[in-house]
Amino acid sequence: MKKSVVSKEYQKLQKDIIELQEQWKTSLDPDCVRPNLDKAAMEAGVPVTALAAIDFDISLFLQWIEDIGALLSKYQPEIETSMQSLKNLLDEETAKRWIDEAFAFNYIYFASFAEENDLDGWIPQFVAETVLRPYLQLTAVKVQDEIHHGVHGAGCPVCGEPVRLAQLEGEGKKVLHCPRCSAHWNDRRVACSHCGNNDHETVKILTIEGESAAQIQICEECKGYTKVIDTRQYIVKPTPAMLDLNTIHLDFVAQEHGYKSAGETKQTN
Ligand SMILES: [Zn+2]
Ligand SMILES: [Zn+2]
Repeated sequence: MKKSVVSKEYQKLQKDIIELQEQWKTSLDPDCVRPNLDKAAMEAGVPVTALAAIDFDISLFLQWIEDIGALLSKYQPEIETSMQSLKNLLDEETAKRWIDEAFAFNYIYFASFAEENDLDGWIPQFVAETVLRPYLQLTAVKVQDEIHHGVHGAGCPVCGEPVRLAQLEGEGKKVLHCPRCSAHWNDRRVACSHCGNNDHETVKILTIEGESAAQIQICEECKGYTKVIDTRQYIVKPTPAMLDLNTIHLDFVAQEHGYKSAGETKQTN
Protein backbone atom coordinates (compact mmCIF):
# COMPACT_ATOMS: atom_id res chain seq x y z
CA MET A 1 0.00 0.00 0.00
CA LYS A 2 1.48 3.30 -1.05
CA LYS A 3 1.19 6.26 1.25
CA SER A 4 0.66 8.71 -1.56
CA VAL A 5 -3.08 8.12 -1.99
CA VAL A 6 -3.74 11.79 -1.29
CA SER A 7 -1.98 14.47 -3.27
CA LYS A 8 1.02 16.17 -1.70
CA GLU A 9 -0.70 19.46 -2.40
CA TYR A 10 -3.75 18.47 -0.34
CA GLN A 11 -1.61 17.31 2.56
CA LYS A 12 0.42 20.50 2.48
CA LEU A 13 -2.76 22.61 2.55
CA GLN A 14 -4.15 20.60 5.48
CA LYS A 15 -0.85 21.00 7.32
CA ASP A 16 -0.93 24.76 6.74
CA ILE A 17 -4.51 24.90 8.05
CA ILE A 18 -3.54 23.00 11.22
CA GLU A 19 -0.68 25.45 11.78
CA LEU A 20 -3.00 28.40 11.25
CA GLN A 21 -5.42 26.97 13.84
CA GLU A 22 -2.56 26.60 16.32
CA GLN A 23 -1.76 30.29 15.84
CA TRP A 24 -5.38 31.34 16.14
CA LYS A 25 -5.74 29.45 19.39
CA THR A 26 -3.07 31.60 21.01
CA SER A 27 -5.14 34.73 20.33
CA LEU A 28 -8.17 33.42 22.23
CA ASP A 29 -8.95 34.76 25.66
CA PRO A 30 -8.80 31.62 27.87
CA ASP A 31 -11.95 32.75 29.71
CA CYS A 32 -14.03 32.83 26.55
CA VAL A 33 -14.86 29.15 27.08
CA ARG A 34 -16.60 28.13 30.30
CA PRO A 35 -17.36 24.41 30.36
CA ASN A 36 -20.18 23.06 32.48
CA LEU A 37 -19.26 19.51 33.41
CA ASP A 38 -22.57 17.77 33.91
CA LYS A 39 -21.81 14.17 34.91
CA ALA A 40 -25.24 12.82 33.95
CA ALA A 41 -25.08 14.43 30.52
CA MET A 42 -21.56 13.07 30.00
CA GLU A 43 -22.69 9.56 30.98
CA ALA A 44 -25.46 9.91 28.40
CA GLY A 45 -22.89 10.76 25.72
CA VAL A 46 -23.59 14.49 25.42
CA PRO A 47 -20.35 16.16 24.30
CA VAL A 48 -18.93 18.74 26.73
CA THR A 49 -18.88 21.47 24.09
CA ALA A 50 -22.67 21.20 23.71
CA LEU A 51 -23.10 22.51 27.27
CA ALA A 52 -20.17 24.91 27.39
CA ALA A 53 -20.71 28.67 27.39
CA ILE A 54 -18.58 30.14 24.64
CA ASP A 55 -18.13 33.85 24.04
CA PHE A 56 -17.53 34.12 20.43
CA ASP A 57 -15.43 37.04 19.20
CA ILE A 58 -16.85 38.34 15.93
CA SER A 59 -13.81 40.43 14.99
CA LEU A 60 -11.53 37.41 15.44
CA PHE A 61 -13.96 35.34 13.42
CA LEU A 62 -13.75 37.76 10.51
CA GLN A 63 -9.99 37.97 10.81
CA TRP A 64 -9.71 34.19 10.71
CA ILE A 65 -11.95 34.00 7.68
CA GLU A 66 -9.63 36.44 5.98
CA ASP A 67 -6.63 34.27 6.98
CA ILE A 68 -8.19 31.05 5.74
CA GLY A 69 -9.33 32.82 2.57
CA ALA A 70 -5.78 33.99 1.86
CA LEU A 71 -4.42 30.49 2.49
CA LEU A 72 -6.97 28.76 0.27
CA SER A 73 -6.43 31.36 -2.47
CA LYS A 74 -2.73 30.53 -2.44
CA TYR A 75 -3.63 26.98 -3.45
CA GLN A 76 -6.69 27.78 -5.55
CA PRO A 77 -6.58 31.39 -6.88
CA GLU A 78 -10.11 31.06 -8.29
CA ILE A 79 -11.47 30.95 -4.76
CA GLU A 80 -10.56 34.53 -3.90
CA THR A 81 -13.84 36.05 -5.13
CA SER A 82 -15.93 33.54 -3.18
CA MET A 83 -14.02 34.24 0.02
CA GLN A 84 -14.54 37.96 -0.48
CA SER A 85 -18.29 37.61 -0.94
CA LEU A 86 -18.43 35.26 2.04
CA LYS A 87 -16.85 37.93 4.20
CA ASN A 88 -19.43 40.46 3.08
CA LEU A 89 -22.25 38.04 3.91
CA LEU A 90 -21.13 37.40 7.47
CA ASP A 91 -22.69 39.85 9.86
CA GLU A 92 -22.68 39.13 13.58
CA GLU A 93 -25.98 37.27 13.56
CA THR A 94 -24.98 35.00 10.67
CA ALA A 95 -21.61 34.31 12.25
CA LYS A 96 -23.31 33.17 15.47
CA ARG A 97 -25.69 30.99 13.53
CA TRP A 98 -22.71 29.41 11.77
CA ILE A 99 -21.13 28.42 15.05
CA ASP A 100 -24.35 26.81 16.27
CA GLU A 101 -24.82 24.90 13.05
CA ALA A 102 -21.17 23.82 12.89
CA PHE A 103 -21.53 22.44 16.45
CA ALA A 104 -24.58 20.53 15.33
CA PHE A 105 -22.87 19.12 12.19
CA ASN A 106 -25.73 20.64 10.21
CA TYR A 107 -24.67 19.90 6.63
CA ILE A 108 -28.06 20.85 5.29
CA TYR A 109 -27.89 24.39 6.64
CA PHE A 110 -24.47 24.97 5.07
CA ALA A 111 -25.42 23.40 1.76
CA SER A 112 -28.43 25.67 1.44
CA PHE A 113 -26.39 28.69 2.57
CA ALA A 114 -23.98 27.91 -0.28
CA GLU A 115 -26.77 27.53 -2.76
CA GLU A 116 -28.62 30.69 -1.75
CA ASN A 117 -25.47 32.74 -1.97
CA ASP A 118 -24.03 31.18 -5.08
CA LEU A 119 -20.93 29.75 -3.38
CA ASP A 120 -19.23 26.42 -4.06
CA GLY A 121 -21.05 23.81 -1.99
CA TRP A 122 -18.10 22.91 0.28
CA ILE A 123 -17.04 26.44 1.23
CA PRO A 124 -19.41 27.51 4.07
CA GLN A 125 -19.21 24.26 6.05
CA PHE A 126 -15.46 23.98 5.54
CA VAL A 127 -14.84 27.54 6.72
CA ALA A 128 -17.22 27.25 9.70
CA GLU A 129 -15.61 23.99 10.82
CA THR A 130 -12.11 25.41 10.41
CA VAL A 131 -12.75 28.49 12.56
CA LEU A 132 -14.70 26.48 15.16
CA ARG A 133 -11.81 24.17 15.98
CA PRO A 134 -9.69 26.53 18.11
CA TYR A 135 -12.71 26.94 20.42
CA LEU A 136 -13.21 23.18 20.60
CA GLN A 137 -9.53 22.69 21.34
CA LEU A 138 -9.56 25.30 24.07
CA THR A 139 -12.55 23.54 25.63
CA ALA A 140 -10.68 20.23 25.50
CA VAL A 141 -7.63 21.73 27.21
CA LYS A 142 -9.83 23.02 30.03
CA VAL A 143 -11.65 19.76 30.72
CA GLN A 144 -9.04 17.14 29.82
CA ASP A 145 -8.28 16.27 33.46
CA GLU A 146 -11.91 15.24 33.92
CA ILE A 147 -12.17 13.15 30.77
CA HIS A 148 -11.25 9.50 31.30
CA HIS A 149 -13.76 7.48 29.30
CA GLY A 150 -16.12 7.94 26.41
CA VAL A 151 -19.54 6.48 25.77
CA HIS A 152 -19.37 3.95 22.95
CA GLY A 153 -21.30 5.22 19.97
CA ALA A 154 -21.28 8.85 21.12
CA GLY A 155 -17.95 9.84 19.57
CA CYS A 156 -15.51 12.21 21.25
CA PRO A 157 -16.70 13.08 24.79
CA VAL A 158 -15.62 16.69 24.27
CA CYS A 159 -16.76 17.54 20.72
CA GLY A 160 -18.78 14.58 19.44
CA GLU A 161 -16.52 13.82 16.48
CA PRO A 162 -16.76 10.16 15.43
CA VAL A 163 -13.86 8.06 16.69
CA ARG A 164 -11.19 7.05 14.22
CA LEU A 165 -7.77 7.35 15.87
CA ALA A 166 -6.10 5.64 18.83
CA GLN A 167 -2.56 5.56 20.12
CA LEU A 168 -0.89 2.80 22.09
CA GLU A 169 0.65 4.13 25.28
CA GLY A 170 2.45 2.70 28.30
CA GLU A 171 2.13 -1.10 28.41
CA GLY A 172 0.00 -1.09 25.28
CA LYS A 173 -3.03 0.73 26.60
CA LYS A 174 -5.35 1.99 23.86
CA VAL A 175 -5.96 5.72 24.18
CA LEU A 176 -8.37 7.38 21.79
CA HIS A 177 -7.34 10.78 20.47
CA CYS A 178 -9.66 13.24 18.77
CA PRO A 179 -8.10 14.91 15.71
CA ARG A 180 -10.76 17.64 15.87
CA CYS A 181 -10.41 18.95 19.44
CA SER A 182 -7.29 17.02 20.63
CA ALA A 183 -9.05 15.46 23.64
CA HIS A 184 -7.99 11.95 24.64
CA TRP A 185 -9.60 9.19 26.69
CA ASN A 186 -9.09 5.52 27.47
CA ASP A 187 -10.69 2.52 25.87
CA ARG A 188 -10.24 -1.22 26.26
CA ARG A 189 -7.66 -2.54 23.83
CA VAL A 190 -9.82 -5.37 22.53
CA ALA A 191 -13.11 -3.47 22.29
CA CYS A 192 -14.53 -1.83 19.19
CA SER A 193 -14.38 1.89 19.95
CA HIS A 194 -17.65 2.53 18.15
CA CYS A 195 -20.07 -0.05 19.56
CA GLY A 196 -18.08 -1.50 22.48
CA ASN A 197 -18.21 -5.04 21.08
CA ASN A 198 -15.33 -7.03 22.61
CA ASP A 199 -15.84 -10.40 20.98
CA HIS A 200 -12.49 -11.40 19.50
CA GLU A 201 -14.28 -13.30 16.72
CA THR A 202 -15.75 -10.08 15.34
CA VAL A 203 -13.26 -7.43 16.41
CA LYS A 204 -10.22 -7.92 14.24
CA ILE A 205 -7.04 -6.26 13.14
CA LEU A 206 -6.08 -5.34 9.61
CA THR A 207 -2.32 -5.16 9.46
CA ILE A 208 -0.74 -2.97 6.85
CA GLU A 209 2.18 -4.31 4.91
CA GLY A 210 5.38 -2.47 5.68
CA GLU A 211 3.95 -0.64 8.68
CA SER A 212 4.87 -2.12 12.02
CA ALA A 213 3.56 0.81 14.06
CA ALA A 214 0.10 1.07 12.50
CA GLN A 215 -2.94 -1.19 12.53
CA ILE A 216 -6.60 -0.83 11.72
CA GLN A 217 -9.03 -2.30 14.23
CA ILE A 218 -12.24 -3.36 12.51
CA CYS A 219 -15.56 -4.58 13.86
CA GLU A 220 -17.90 -6.94 12.03
CA GLU A 221 -20.82 -5.96 14.26
CA CYS A 222 -21.00 -2.26 13.43
CA LYS A 223 -18.58 -2.14 10.49
CA GLY A 224 -16.64 0.62 12.21
CA TYR A 225 -12.87 1.02 12.14
CA THR A 226 -10.27 2.69 14.31
CA LYS A 227 -6.69 3.46 13.32
CA VAL A 228 -4.38 2.25 16.10
CA ILE A 229 -0.95 3.83 15.98
CA ASP A 230 1.90 2.78 18.23
CA THR A 231 3.61 6.12 18.84
CA ARG A 232 5.67 4.87 21.79
CA GLN A 233 8.81 4.84 19.66
CA TYR A 234 8.23 8.35 18.34
CA ILE A 235 10.73 10.84 19.67
CA VAL A 236 8.41 13.75 19.00
CA LYS A 237 4.71 12.91 19.31
CA PRO A 238 2.64 14.57 16.61
CA THR A 239 -0.62 16.32 17.49
CA PRO A 240 -3.69 14.14 16.87
CA ALA A 241 -4.62 16.33 13.89
CA MET A 242 -1.20 15.76 12.30
CA LEU A 243 -1.18 12.06 13.14
CA ASP A 244 -4.62 11.71 11.60
CA LEU A 245 -3.45 13.52 8.47
CA ASN A 246 -0.25 11.48 8.22
CA THR A 247 -2.20 8.21 8.43
CA ILE A 248 -4.95 9.17 6.01
CA HIS A 249 -3.90 6.28 3.76
CA LEU A 250 -5.17 3.93 6.49
CA ASP A 251 -8.63 5.50 6.25
CA PHE A 252 -8.61 4.70 2.56
CA VAL A 253 -7.62 1.08 3.24
CA ALA A 254 -10.37 0.70 5.85
CA GLN A 255 -12.98 2.33 3.65
CA GLU A 256 -11.94 0.26 0.63
CA HIS A 257 -12.64 -2.80 2.78
CA GLY A 258 -16.12 -1.46 3.56
CA TYR A 259 -15.55 -0.14 7.09
CA LYS A 260 -16.48 3.32 8.20
CA SER A 261 -15.96 5.85 10.91
CA ALA A 262 -19.69 6.31 11.40
CA GLY A 263 -21.20 9.72 10.75
CA GLU A 264 -17.79 11.02 9.86
CA THR A 265 -17.53 14.74 9.10
CA LYS A 266 -15.66 15.27 5.91
CA GLN A 267 -13.88 18.45 5.00
CA THR A 268 -14.39 18.37 1.30
CA ASN A 269 -12.57 20.51 -1.19
ZN1 LIG B 1 -13.14 15.95 19.97
ZN1 LIG C 1 -18.29 -2.15 16.56
